[in-house]
Amino acid sequence: MKTIGVLGGMSWESSAQYYALINRAVRDRLGGIASAKFLMRSFDFAEIARLQAEGEWEQLGVMLAEAAVRLEQAGADTILIATNTMHLVAPKVQDAITIPLLHIADPLGAALKTAGHARVGLLATRFTMEQSFYVERLAAHGVEVIVPDEAERGELHRIIFEELCAGELHKGSQDFACSAIADLDTRGATAIALACTELMLLIKPEDSVLPLFDTTALHCEAAVDFALGD
Ligand code: GLU
Repeated sequence: MKTIGVLGGMSWESSAQYYALINRAVRDRLGGIASAKFLMRSFDFAEIARLQAEGEWEQLGVMLAEAAVRLEQAGADTILIATNTMHLVAPKVQDAITIPLLHIADPLGAALKTAGHARVGLLATRFTMEQSFYVERLAAHGVEVIVPDEAERGELHRIIFEELCAGELHKGSQDFACSAIADLDTRGATAIALACTELMLLIKPEDSVLPLFDTTALHCEAAVDFALGD
């Protein structure tokens, strides 16, 4: 089994899910008391979120790249960035290491394609919904992205940072996310990408009028495929 290296803490609410999902998948596939070989570098999200808000992507790239190098030195065979947003600096991280970075949008794009969805609604932070890095990566899989309107994007961003990353789940926010999904449905999306690793805590398949593709689960599954593959 190969060792999975994770850049986490962005936020730890979703990193805890990564730890559980990856270990459960290894146990399910290997049986008994098998568990993952797993290394995590967990950041202080207050510091990361401040730098994101200030647009300090260069510095964030350096921080993540340095951490990835340390994980490689410690024995990691692959690196996962356990947040969609921070894939904005994924090229910088990949350039710093000799092991593969498993990009979170790749298993998402592959799953959407396999299920026959060519037009997906994206729920995420403003960074992920509004900058090109994520949309372009999905386009390379043949998937077109539509995003919520300006007001909905602002509220989703607020919910992610002020509530989900702080460990708060509110019914009003769940209802808001579901109405944003309904709007994307009327605009022609045939599926929804939960492209923020905390959103799966708030929105469940039974709440949504469209099928959900959860990047946290898909990323973890890809990591386990890698770790247990040849
Ligand atoms: N975990 C979230 C994501 O997947 C947001 C936290 C962040 O800004 O890194 O984008």
